[in-house]
Amino acid sequence: MSLMQTLQLPNFADFEANNIPTQLTALIANSKQQIEQLVSEPSLSYADLVLPLEQIDDAIGQVFGPLAHLHSVANTDSVRQAYDLCLPKLTEYSTWLSQNQDLYKALERIQQSDEFNHLTPVQQQDINLQMRDFRLAGVALGAEDKQQYAELKQQLAQLSTQFSNNVMDATDSWSKHFDDSKHLLGLPESSLAQAKQLAASKGLTGYLLNLDFACYHAVVTFADDRELRQTVYTAFNTRASDQGPHDQQYDNTEIMAQLVSLRQQLAQLVGYDNYAEYSVASKMADSGKEAHDFLQDLAQQCKPLGQEEMAQLQAFANQQGGPQPLQAWDIAYYSEKLRQARFDLSQEELKPYFALPQVQAGLFAIVERLFGIQVEQVDGVPVWHKDVGFYRISQQGKPIGYFYLDVFARQQKRGGAWMNDCRTRQKLANQQTQLPVAYLVCNFAPASDDQPALLTHNDVVTLFHEFGHGLHHMLTHIDVAGVAGINGVAWDAVELPSQLLENWAWQKESLLMFAKHYQTGEPLPAAMLQKMLAAKHFQSAMFMLRQLEFGLFDLRLHSQDAAQSVDVQAVLDQVRAEVAVITPPDWNRFQHGFSHIFAGGYAAGYYSYMWADVLAADVFERFMADGIFNPQTGQQYWHKLLGRGGSADAMTLFMDFMGRKPDVAALIRSKGLGEAA
Ligand SMILES: [Zn+2]
Repeated sequence: MSLMQTLQLPNFADFEANNIPTQLTALIANSKQQIEQLVSEPSLSYADLVLPLEQIDDAIGQVFGPLAHLHSVANTDSVRQAYDLCLPKLTEYSTWLSQNQDLYKALERIQQSDEFNHLTPVQQQDINLQMRDFRLAGVALGAEDKQQYAELKQQLAQLSTQFSNNVMDATDSWSKHFDDSKHLLGLPESSLAQAKQLAASKGLTGYLLNLDFACYHAVVTFADDRELRQTVYTAFNTRASDQGPHDQQYDNTEIMAQLVSLRQQLAQLVGYDNYAEYSVASKMADSGKEAHDFLQDLAQQCKPLGQEEMAQLQAFANQQGGPQPLQAWDIAYYSEKLRQARFDLSQEELKPYFALPQVQAGLFAIVERLFGIQVEQVDGVPVWHKDVGFYRISQQGKPIGYFYLDVFARQQKRGGAWMNDCRTRQKLANQQTQLPVAYLVCNFAPASDDQPALLTHNDVVTLFHEFGHGLHHMLTHIDVAGVAGINGVAWDAVELPSQLLENWAWQKESLLMFAKHYQTGEPLPAAMLQKMLAAKHFQSAMFMLRQLEFGLFDLRLHSQDAAQSVDVQAVLDQVRAEVAVITPPDWNRFQHGFSHIFAGGYAAGYYSYMWADVLAADVFERFMADGIFNPQTGQQYWHKLLGRGGSADAMTLFMDFMGRKPDVAALIRSKGLGEAA
């Protein structure tokens, strides 16, 4: 039997998207029948109820999961059509399931029975979280309200998909062609090679720029031609909006207003003042106010430092004969020049030391050393694109998890980087343990004909970040699906393992395991390493303020009264007036591409990055004290925190490992802003 069959992996090599809607319809009908049958039993034990439910859930994931994944990474017409057909069915089913009063009652009977006391704490937590989610989904509502809830969920799912499609289509439909490189002065060789390759792939000579993040980033950071920077900045920051060069059919303005308004209605329907309160009800933060105050306090600490950084940047630009005031499309350009002047180091110079194959091998070697595991590539598993690899993680020769790795940007692939689950660890009916499988996705500039993909250090950090999520999913010890890996983990704690692992891309000891010149094999020279580390906190306050701006915008947007119509732009403008040190032009429509909160799971939850960063910074201080490769600390972190997934609440896990509560000052220290604390 092939590995694909053993692990029941999707056959991506021969994937028939248009069969999925029919399969899913049949499966959903069957699942409903099974569940109705189940709950008609007068009394059910944990094993009678929860295990069959897990299997039903897993079966649906096996059918719909691969399609949802392809919708993000290989968004062909047939995939999009099939997905659009499946989405309403699945949304209807999840609502039916999550509001099923009989199912809730059956769980409640277990919770109140003597059996509950004999369940493991993991099983108890699973039941408790399931019941909480039933309440959040309005299980207690009357029939009419339930109907309204279901309709709201349908509309929200459709609008989110439409938002995401608009961003993707607007991104893909813009490009700019140049016959020669005279307007592209300043761009690094690797970016020019990309642009040339892109042109060739469209049958053109010369150079083609597009809105993939790597291309956008290269232009605004390096292009000497100010007009070109403005053109590309404008195209990127007006995607899917009423502004800029884009087709109006992709405009997300109305969709965003509707999303926010429908979310508020949903929250109020199930008894919360607003969506922010509804969102934090399942998070580590006690209230929307606590999350908001947390961000606002940080913003107050960072703002004077950010203003100082901005003043230094302007002064530097003035010396260079640059514009005053600097515009949004000048910031990255002069920042890079200032970084070079101050640290004598360009991001570009580092890239030859971060060729993807070496970085990947280094990442694997680091986690192998840290956790005593092995990571290796496995051939013969069908994938959706030739650049995708499949890997196994084992411990003492025994497999414990697997992952797909898809790192390059391309057309019909959503931007950004993420981890998603393909299989969750759980005990199956035959008593076998299903091993976890993850999808790890990034969007790095691909290799060119004559050189491997060379990553920026920022890309390296991104890869480590996503791998941290992957480890959370794959190294779990829990085999109760509802709380295994990232399942059941409070959303504002979910970025702990990812942000923690980023640190190993910043330590001399770990960096030197892989930072070697791709042509000469020469290790990253000590002087360059020193400069790179010295530059780590360059414009750190400005970066923090950007993140705080996004987080505050998100929380305030979702704290509005449902009765009022939402002025998304006004909320953002207000937050910027308080927090930002860079004021973008009036026509900037950043929010129209802010998929995290409009199409992803971060609505009223973007603050989670910063919140979890406190946890990660704090945990890393312990690694720094014990040694970043201290095997005992690695094992303790794995066994007391990482491996326990959602089987206990995030604060409990944190305190089990650290022996105390989190310390916000650790975040400030980790950003090199210690003097502000
Ligand atoms: Zn993350």
